[in-house]
Amino acid sequence: MVRGTAAAFAIIVSSVLLMAPPVVAQNNYDNVSIEATKLADNVYMLTGAGGNIGVFTAADGAIMVDAQYAPLKDKITAAIAKLSDKPIKTLINSHFHRDHTDGNAAFAAAGVSVIAQQNVYDRLQANEDFDRAGLPQITFSQQLAIQTEQGALQLEYYPDGHTDGDIITWFPGANVIHAGDLFFVDRFPFIDLNAGGTVDGYINNVSAVISKIDDDTQIIPGHGSLSDKSDWQRLVDMIKATRAEVVAAKAKGLSEAEVIEQGLSDKWQDWSWNFITEKRWIETLYRDHDATAGM
Ligand SMILES: [Zn+2]
Repeated sequence: MVRGTAAAFAIIVSSVLLMAPPVVAQNNYDNVSIEATKLADNVYMLTGAGGNIGVFTAADGAIMVDAQYAPLKDKITAAIAKLSDKPIKTLINSHFHRDHTDGNAAFAAAGVSVIAQQNVYDRLQANEDFDRAGLPQITFSQQLAIQTEQGALQLEYYPDGHTDGDIITWFPGANVIHAGDLFFVDRFPFIDLNAGGTVDGYINNVSAVISKIDDDTQIIPGHGSLSDKSDWQRLVDMIKATRAEVVAAKAKGLSEAEVIEQGLSDKWQDWSWNFITEKRWIETLYRDHDATAGM
């Protein structure tokens, strides 16, 4: 994993989530460079700050999945201009979190159509801090196909995993998918229990997508490097194993604080990072279990 990049990303995400002053954030964005990697004909992955971006260069304009932060809009546009001589036409939101949707309004102002699952629209609409100009113009419930001359991008809804509005995007003519935040590579994932996310849903949704892909599928994760099926299975296995540890400790009568004090097995140490530390991951597993156990 690219630890330096991951750390830099985590600092930005943490500060944004804590609503750090925009001036501080702006300085961070000045130092961000957008890097493009070609994955197949017409399919690219862009990294910068925030969730990884997927790009499909359709004949009549580029289609992007996720927009990172508004101050990066010009840099992202310049990076895509090197891949296609057509303007950006469509922006798909993988889910509502700010590190994926903050750029919506800036791209919409440039004539880009924004598409999202209905729950993403509802959550952005309910957020007073979200720029109205960036609200999705097209929404869907379960599935949407975006037709292009090179085939259709397929957007597929997976409920109640990372949030209640997660979608997977399948690119045409290539064995590539964009997984959004159903995939954090080799790190404890963020499961947003306050926005419809659940641990069971996360496991089930990732397992469902894994059953549809093969060993050659290239996966653009929400956070981390380009990955494959075995990397994703490792995440599911970790979630199941760490949840079993927390549930077993809870069954012995340990409080949340006591489970945190005890910690997880040493082999999970490397999964901890500054956004989702071991403490926060245990809190997620413990509270999710409270909710599902009806306590
Ligand atoms: Zn997210």
